Amino acid sequence: MTTISAEQIRYDRDHIWHPYSSMINPPPVYPIVSAQGVYLKMSGGQELIDGMASWWSTIHGYNHPALNATAHAQIDKMSHVMFGGITHEPAIELARKLVDLTPATLDKVFIADSGSVAVEVAIKMAIQYWHALDKPEKHKLVTIRNGYHGDTFGAMSVCDPINGMHEIFTAVLPKHHFADRPEIGFHQAWESSDIASLKSIIEQHHQELAALILEPIVQGAGGMRFYSPHYLKAARALCDEYDLLLIADEIATGFARTGEMFACQHAGITPDIICLGKAITGGYMSLAATLTSTKIAESISAGGAGCFMHGPTFMGNPLACAIANTSLQLLNDSQWKPNMQRIETALKSGLEPAAAFNGVAEVRCLGGIGVIELEQAVDSARIQKMFVKAGIWVRPFGKLVYIMPPYIMDNETLDRLTSGIIEVLHRYLKS
Ligand code: PMP
Repeated sequence: MTTISAEQIRYDRDHIWHPYSSMINPPPVYPIVSAQGVYLKMSGGQELIDGMASWWSTIHGYNHPALNATAHAQIDKMSHVMFGGITHEPAIELARKLVDLTPATLDKVFIADSGSVAVEVAIKMAIQYWHALDKPEKHKLVTIRNGYHGDTFGAMSVCDPINGMHEIFTAVLPKHHFADRPEIGFHQAWESSDIASLKSIIEQHHQELAALILEPIVQGAGGMRFYSPHYLKAARALCDEYDLLLIADEIATGFARTGEMFACQHAGITPDIICLGKAITGGYMSLAATLTSTKIAESISAGGAGCFMHGPTFMGNPLACAIANTSLQLLNDSQWKPNMQRIETALKSGLEPAAAFNGVAEVRCLGGIGVIELEQAVDSARIQKMFVKAGIWVRPFGKLVYIMPPYIMDNETLDRLTSGIIEVLHRYLKS
């Protein structure tokens, strides 16, 4: 299919929920018929440079020959089989890769089917751990304002309601503690007062706290802010001092996006539980993982319940696991560190001109993430139309125009992407 008809688009508008969309007045959706490398092809033939990597996930680009070959081979063998009482090579090899790639103590792997579920699993692991140690009163979480961890109920309960995404559910969500967000940026001089709010909550409530959950270094959906590694270090120390588990939600930041394989490594810390997703299959399949230590896994298993209480239907899906194995192999075999430095340099120099525009508050880049923060919220539909006309796919929201390109984007294409963004933004802010 090379075109999508007007009738099909109307059907879409009338019948399909898109993320955070209205059924009365849905925003425009752009019909894509195929994707190759770093390009999306629209119905009608126009190509767009993909600045989003489909929300952090398609790090190797689209239609990758090795990922395609793995998918075909695995489909011919077995695309799905239940994981209850059965195991298979793709899951075993994925577990081995994840255990090897993550810090040494994280060696027990729960293979889930989406990022939000990986967060649910992490929260349940933390609560079940303390329950097993005969401290059921440690069942609350502390988290950071402006954080985002997914759209399911447990995950929503540790998202900051003030960003408006989940506010209407507040009354029915479990109540947790929210510390002020870190104000000190990634490169700024550290002051310990930045962590005062978190410290005070932990000091007062540690007896009821099972864990601290946070997005390390980058608060994504809550504003694309990069914060100081010292904050993360100090948070780890507080968890150790007051007996809290540290859950690192690396669903967005994991697999080199920030310039380190995992964002926690900027601070040299190891979490007790880590959540991974998005880039894990190179964006081919929905898959996520939650890893924890032998100590935590064995304590949970030795508790009264005798097992960890979670087991989704598509757990360890062999097709997704096989593709994840190839995706992680591609990443491991690549020169990912200098490559992320190359992308960061290109994003910095390419987006820098926006800092001089009236109406732009800040330009910031880290690894493969580039952010232009405006002073006012953007008219997303209008600016997105302008971007598409210019041959660029980005999805602005709130005050942010941000990009997270596939890692395979070359410098010439990065230059076309960033100069296109600058040109469109310039016109948008003048009009
Ligand atoms: N945690 C973080 C940090 C995320 O960015 C996201 C997705 N945007 C999630 C959790 C939820 O993942 P998923 O959308 O796969 O459920």
